[in-house]
Amino acid sequence: MIYLNGEWMPIEQARIPVLDRGFIFGDGVYEVIPSYSGHPFRLREHLARLQSSLDGVRIENPCSLARWDELVREIVAKNPWEDQGVYLQVTRGVAPRDHAFPKGVKPTVFMMSNPLTTPAPEQRERGVAAITVADNRWLRCDIKSVSLLANCLLRQSAVDAGAAESVLLRDGFLTEGSASNIFAVKDGVIITPPKSNFILPGITYDVVIELARANKLPLQIRQVSEAEVRDADELWLTSSTKEVLSISTLDGSPVGSGKNAGKPGPVAARMYQLYQDYKRTVMRAPARV
Ligand code: PMP
Repeated sequence: MIYLNGEWMPIEQARIPVLDRGFIFGDGVYEVIPSYSGHPFRLREHLARLQSSLDGVRIENPCSLARWDELVREIVAKNPWEDQGVYLQVTRGVAPRDHAFPKGVKPTVFMMSNPLTTPAPEQRERGVAAITVADNRWLRCDIKSVSLLANCLLRQSAVDAGAAESVLLRDGFLTEGSASNIFAVKDGVIITPPKSNFILPGITYDVVIELARANKLPLQIRQVSEAEVRDADELWLTSSTKEVLSISTLDGSPVGSGKNAGKPGPVAARMYQLYQDYKRTVMRAPARV
C-alpha cells in the first residue's frame, strides 16, 4: 500500500498529473527511513532532515511532526515485510510549467515502502569495489533533493566499471559517495569529512560518529585529501540501507596493505557490530517523535 495526498491505495492505482513539478523540474525532496520489526529507525532525525531539506528549497512542510510520525508507522503497519525501507517524497505540487514558484499550490505527498535489502553476507565478508570520480554535483548536496540526475550518472559510472559505488572527490578532497557517506581509517583513526554543503548529512554517518565517540574509537572529523583516501588502511561507505560496508578495492587496487589488503578491516568489523547492537537497543525502546 502506498500513500498519495491523503489516500491509501495499491501502487498500481497511484497517478500523478504530468505537470507535477517533481516530474517537470525535479522540484522536491525526499527521505528513506529504515524500519526494523515495525520500529522506524531514527525517525526524529529523518524528519528533522526532511524539514531542513524543505527549508532549503522553500517548500512549506505539509504535515506536522506528529502527522509524519503517524504516517510512517501506518505505512509500515500496512505492508507485510518484517524490515522495510520507507520512502517519502514531497514536491512543490502541480502547476503550469514556469520556473518561478506557483502561488497557492499544495505540495504533493507520496510515500511507499519496500522490503529492506541490506548487503548480502558475501558483500559484507568481501567488501565491495569502488571507483573515484570527480564530484560534479551542485553546491547544495546537503539538501536531499529528488533531482538526482548527477548522482544517477555518478553511480552508473561505478556500475560501468564493475564497481558498487563512486567515491567522489572535489578539488582534491573527499566529499561522499553517489548515495552514501564515506569513512577512511588510517593507523586506527577513523577519518571523515565534516558536514557542509558538499555532503548529505547522513543519518548513518551520525550514528557511526556517535558510536565511535561512545566507544572511544579514535575519530577525526576533518577534510580528507585524495592522497589520504588512496593511502587509507580501510574505506567504508555508510547509508541507511548499506549500513556500514567496507570498500575493498578502489580504482581496481586493493584498499590497505599487509595481510588485510583488499579485505574488510578490523575497525569496520567493530563498527558494523556496534551498529547492529545499537539497532537492537533501538528496537527494544523505539523513540516516539
Ligand atoms: N549521501 C548521499 C548522496 C545519499 O544519497 C545518502 C543516502 N542514500 C547518504 C549520503 C547516506 O544517508 P543516510 O545514512 O541517511 O542513508
